[in-house]
Amino acid sequence: MGRRRKRYKRIVKKVRRIPSVYQCPQCGSRSLTIEIKSEAGTRIAYIRCGHCGLKVLAENIPEIYETPDIYGKFIDFYTGSEETNVSFKFIESEELSTEVAEEEDIEGT
Ligand SMILES: [Zn+2]
Repeated sequence: MGRRRKRYKRIVKKVRRIPSVYQCPQCGSRSLTIEIKSEAGTRIAYIRCGHCGLKVLAENIPEIYETPDIYGKFIDFYTGSEETNVSFKFIESEELSTEVAEEEDIEGT
């Protein structure tokens, strides 16, 4: 009675795996990539979906941010649920060469 045979040790190695591909909030496909770049002392990131062609430029990225943090902020931005300290801009694929001058106000709030 009362057998207790579940005595195995679970060794969980904490490997911090940062997935480089995320789920796209626009099309739901797992084809969203985030690429961080450092330019002139500031960090920016390109968020791109290989499925629906969503392109977003993220600016003012704090140094401690990794791609999951940026993804989290991006989702906040996309859903409009939160104000973010990182600024995101949608990039029209045809306007890549043109400068994106204006920041759009986020609707909602
Ligand atoms: Zn997509």
